[in-house]
Amino acid sequence: MMEVEITKTIRCKLIGLTKRKRELLNSEYAHFQHFLKTGEDRGVYSATKQQGKRTYSKVDSNKEYPLVIRKDLMDIRKTNNKLATYWARIPICGVRGGVKVALAHQPFDFENWEVCGSKLVKTKEGAFYLHVTVKKKVELRKEYASIIAIDIGARWAAVSVARHRIKPKFYGKRVREIRGKYFWLRRKLGRAKKLRAIKKIGHKERRLVNDELHKIAKDIVDEAERHNAIIAIGDLKGVRNNKRGRKVNRKVNSMPFYKLKEYIKYKAVERGIAVIEVPEFNTSKQCSRCGSMRTERHSQGAFICSDCGYQINADVNGAKNILKRAVGYMLTVGAVVTQPEGERFFLNHTPQPLKLHSGSHRL
Ligand SMILES: [Zn+2]
Repeated sequence: MMEVEITKTIRCKLIGLTKRKRELLNSEYAHFQHFLKTGEDRGVYSATKQQGKRTYSKVDSNKEYPLVIRKDLMDIRKTNNKLATYWARIPICGVRGGVKVALAHQPFDFENWEVCGSKLVKTKEGAFYLHVTVKKKVELRKEYASIIAIDIGARWAAVSVARHRIKPKFYGKRVREIRGKYFWLRRKLGRAKKLRAIKKIGHKERRLVNDELHKIAKDIVDEAERHNAIIAIGDLKGVRNNKRGRKVNRKVNSMPFYKLKEYIKYKAVERGIAVIEVPEFNTSKQCSRCGSMRTERHSQGAFICSDCGYQINADVNGAKNILKRAVGYMLTVGAVVTQPEGERFFLNHTPQPLKLHSGSHRL
C-alpha cells in the first residue's frame, strides 16, 4: 500500500446569521482574545481555551487570533436546506450544543474527507469565516507508462520534457507578462509616491500569478493522467548550500514558482499520481546528451556543450537532466521494464513527503 495523506483548508463564510447568533459569536470571539492576552476568563468554551493556549504560545497584544476549534468538537453536516448545503456547530460557552451556522454554498464536498480542526476567523469588516482543515488518504499508483520531468526556473515558470513526446513544453509566458506589467505599474506609482496603491496592486498581481500557476500545474497533471506518467521535479533543497548558493537561493526565493511545485505535487497526489524529487545539483550545467560539465550558457538561454557540441535551450537541457535522473531513481527504488508495448516504470515505495497540504483553498 502506498498511501499519502493530503490535507486542505476550506474557507467557508458563515451566512444568514441571526442577531442572536452574531452576538454569541462576537462575544465568544472577544472573550477568547481577552483570555489569550490576560489569562482572565470572561466566558470561553473550555476546550477552545485549552486549544488556544496550545496553538498560540506567544501572543501579541495588537493582534487578533482566530478561535481554534478542536477536532472532536467539529461537527459539519449536510442538510439540504435552502440557505446552505452544509452547516457547522460552533462551540460557545454556556450554550448547550453550540451555535448552528450555515456555510456559504460552495463546490467542496466534505463527504469524502475527514474533518480535522478548524479556526473561526473574524474579518475587519466583522464577517465570520470558518477555515476548516480536512484530510484524506490517497492511494498512489505503482505502475507508470511514462515520466514527465519538470524544470522549474526563472525564465520560464516550468519547462517539461517527457518519455512519451519529443517536443518540450514551455510554461509561464502569461506569468512573465503579468509580472512585467506590474513591474512597470509599480514603478510608475512609486514615482508618484502612491504607496497604498502599490500595496493594492501587489495583492492583485499575486492573485493573478497564483491563478496562472494553478493552471500550469493542472495542465501538467492532466497530461500525466492522460499518459499514466509519474512526475519528476528537481529538488533544489540539496543545492541551496553549495558554494554558489546565492544564485540558487535567488532562484528559490524570488520565485512564486516554489508554489508551482507545491501545486503540482498536490494536484498529482490527489489523483493518485506520484511525484518524485530528484537532486537538481548541476542539472543546469551538465550536458544532458553526453554528461560533460564543459558547457557554456549564453545570454539568450542557449546551452552549448564543448565536448559533444550539443546546442539546446538551457531550460530544456535542465529538464532533460531531471528526466535522466528520474529514470535512475526509478531503477533504484523500483524497476524499469521494457515491454513490447513500451516501457513500464514501477515504484515500490512512497516518495516523501507523506503529508501534503494544499494551502488555503479559496472558494
Ligand atoms: Zn555534451
